Amino acid sequence: MRKPEEQPRWPDRYSRQTRFAPIGESGQRRLEQAGVLIVGCGALGASLAQHMARAGVGLVRIVDRDYVEPSNLQRQVLFDEQDALESLPKAVAAARKLRLINGEIEVDARVQDVTNANVGELLEGMDAVLDGTDNAAARLLLSEHGFRRGIPFFYGGVAGSQGMSASLVPGATACLRCLIGGGESDSGADTCDTIGVIAPAVEWVAALQAAEALKWLSGRREALRRTWLSGDLWHFRVRESALPSPAQGCDICGGAQAAAERGGDADNSRIRGRNAKGARDSRQAAFHLTSLSLNRSGPLAEGEPVHHGFRAQTAVLCGRDTVQVTMEEGIGLDLGEAEQWLAARGCEVTSNPYLVKAAMPEGEKLVLFPDGRILVQGTQDPARATALCGAYLTGMRAAAILR
Ligand SMILES: [Zn+2]
Repeated sequence: MRKPEEQPRWPDRYSRQTRFAPIGESGQRRLEQAGVLIVGCGALGASLAQHMARAGVGLVRIVDRDYVEPSNLQRQVLFDEQDALESLPKAVAAARKLRLINGEIEVDARVQDVTNANVGELLEGMDAVLDGTDNAAARLLLSEHGFRRGIPFFYGGVAGSQGMSASLVPGATACLRCLIGGGESDSGADTCDTIGVIAPAVEWVAALQAAEALKWLSGRREALRRTWLSGDLWHFRVRESALPSPAQGCDICGGAQAAAERGGDADNSRIRGRNAKGARDSRQAAFHLTSLSLNRSGPLAEGEPVHHGFRAQTAVLCGRDTVQVTMEEGIGLDLGEAEQWLAARGCEVTSNPYLVKAAMPEGEKLVLFPDGRILVQGTQDPARATALCGAYLTGMRAAAILR
């Protein structure tokens, strides 16, 4: 990110945005000092990330747990055929493109799931959360933890030709849990997997979210749209309804007024003077497997063979015939070890610096990430996915991981 005292490389880069009176030069300065967290870098997330980078938001942090496949290219605007051929993690491929689009901002890419354990760190230094996720559990987690810190959640969802969007602001509106209930299950909901999706519907919702985020981040908060907007681009219809106020009895949004007053100040002063070097270091740590012995409690230690190291916690990924299985907390996967181990067990193995893919004789594929996640492709059955992990990975040496 460019320091305030440094001259920009292209002084007119943002000229059309600063000529837009509601943003102006002062709004642009605020954007350049702001940080935004984009969770999920699929169709919505990639478009949101591009909008934020081109607008000059100073720190764009992208989190995604998946990698680029050919079926993404129809709508995920930051990716190309080469990314799919290399099976690059979406966060990594997106960061490469974003740095080509705008070399004056900082891009912080994380190949991770968002969990209770890391959501606090991911929100550190952020002024807004943009929703590019595909599931209610992640959205509820981000809404809750953001609200507790005075950080708004810009919700977006798309399926088929339909989309919806809402700006949930601590102290001003209800939180996501008050709007959709606390159920984390997406079963029964239409998804890209069941009814498909067209790219213009994605771009429409991303535009709605990005415009609201620009208002918030440039300090023009009075301009925020206070409605839940939904519509259908194919059978053209748009509906708008007022967002409810914070609920008195809700421990998330009812108590968010104080957090909003603490954290939601209009001049982004919380992030002024943010240590850019620290942010870079933490990005590297996200990919770093340590060879040191770490003092951890729990049944598995670094270098110890995997026996019962799989957490029962699994997630069926939207839009994919895929189940995600997670290793026990603090346990990573050594990709070099995994590559040799799986090849020796009859799998067809390919790899890049970020993941190992193994086609098993049974027909399913395992995709292993260093942060201890395994995508089992070709099934939607969590029990079968966990059994396959057990059958193929038991005995392999685990790696401790820095989190
Ligand atoms: Zn609430």
